[in-house]
Amino acid sequence: MKSNNYKDYLHSYPDYDGFYGHFGGSYIPDDLQKIMHEIRDAYDTISRSYDFISELRSIRKHYQGRPTPVYHAQRLSRKIGNCQIYLKREDLNHTGAHKLNHCMGEGLLAKYMGKKKIIAETGAGQHGVALATAAAYFNMECDIYMGEVDIAKQAPNVARMKLLGARVIPVTHGLKTLKEAVDACFEAYLKDPVTQLYCIGSVVGPHPFPMMVRDFQHVVGVEAREQYFDMTGEDPDVVTACVGGGSNAMGIFSGFLDARSELHGVEPLGRGPKLGDHAASLTYGSEGIMHGFNSIMLKDKKGEPAPVYSVASGLDYPSTGPEHSYLHEIGRAKYFTADDKEAVQAFFVLSRLEGIIPALESAHAVAHAMRLARENSGSKPLSILVNLSGRGDKDMDYVIEHYGTGEDEYAQFLKDNA
Ligand SMILES: *Cc1c(COP(=O)(O)O)cnc(C)c1O
Repeated sequence: MKSNNYKDYLHSYPDYDGFYGHFGGSYIPDDLQKIMHEIRDAYDTISRSYDFISELRSIRKHYQGRPTPVYHAQRLSRKIGNCQIYLKREDLNHTGAHKLNHCMGEGLLAKYMGKKKIIAETGAGQHGVALATAAAYFNMECDIYMGEVDIAKQAPNVARMKLLGARVIPVTHGLKTLKEAVDACFEAYLKDPVTQLYCIGSVVGPHPFPMMVRDFQHVVGVEAREQYFDMTGEDPDVVTACVGGGSNAMGIFSGFLDARSELHGVEPLGRGPKLGDHAASLTYGSEGIMHGFNSIMLKDKKGEPAPVYSVASGLDYPSTGPEHSYLHEIGRAKYFTADDKEAVQAFFVLSRLEGIIPALESAHAVAHAMRLARENSGSKPLSILVNLSGRGDKDMDYVIEHYGTGEDEYAQFLKDNA
């Protein structure tokens, strides 16, 4: 596809059955398929209605605090040299990350569909907290399915969800983590698809979820493009974001598909390239179906989803949104990696130089921007817009316990950029 053809891209992809090329779709049992068709049809009608659009706009402005700013990170740019790094501040969105963008959209859809309850699974708890927030706002019941092991590890997020009025339902079979929580949530949904709406937490799952979540995150890219243009009079050379399931990346990418900007997704390389040590699905994976959609995923020897790891718990997912697989295949977006060490260094550097403590997830994108800037051998400064998907308060205890307060990492950064 030529770049000027991307003008119509968002209307053309996915197709009616949820395909982006051969990625995406809906590979689920027939009874669930029927429910997904209902959601798709409801979404098609409701999301175009004047009432829905104006209510969502009002929520974004008055409740979430949108638009979030684009910020020129001048001290960071100056230290590295020959670059201009800008940050789209999704960390300033209410609840401290981009996730609320799609949770408020899904909650509003549930309201218009006449649902009484919204449900989801959660791993580290970030999606659970965002959805519980939406449930409180819309005065709906909220059930969050969470593995017992994760409940023990994520006490503050469990407390937050309960404080917001959600029910946290422990999942006690198998490994008692995210995968089992997904199964339990699907099961509960099948039992009662009439009063409940299942709200998926990223651009993954069966159609129409990858499309709906992208559409709800699209506001990030639309705002960012306009704000960046206001500040500079052009589009950035590179737009970059971290990729777990891929929602914050699809949000910002979708605003720049028809721009001259390169789109760079950043996957977590964790401890290194050995299977089990990372979650870089697009970089090391192969085509396969999991959780009801076809994409590029990491498989073990039996072809099952492989174990994954990243210091950023929001990025450890063994597949990736189908639209990323498609953009990768057609070459419109490129995908890179950053490992734990690089992400942690970026976490410390951004904190010290800009007074912004990023989420460890977002720090992967910052690390990639820093590397691009350092490697820029051209005479023209490279302009990079980073989607800063969330704030790092949730990660502080972990980082300080394992890495201290960053004196060594910052000293290394100064040496590397001297
Ligand atoms: C959940 C999360 C992510 C990863 O999710 P995507 O769907 O890949 O965007 C990234 N950053 C933050 C702050 C998160 O909470």
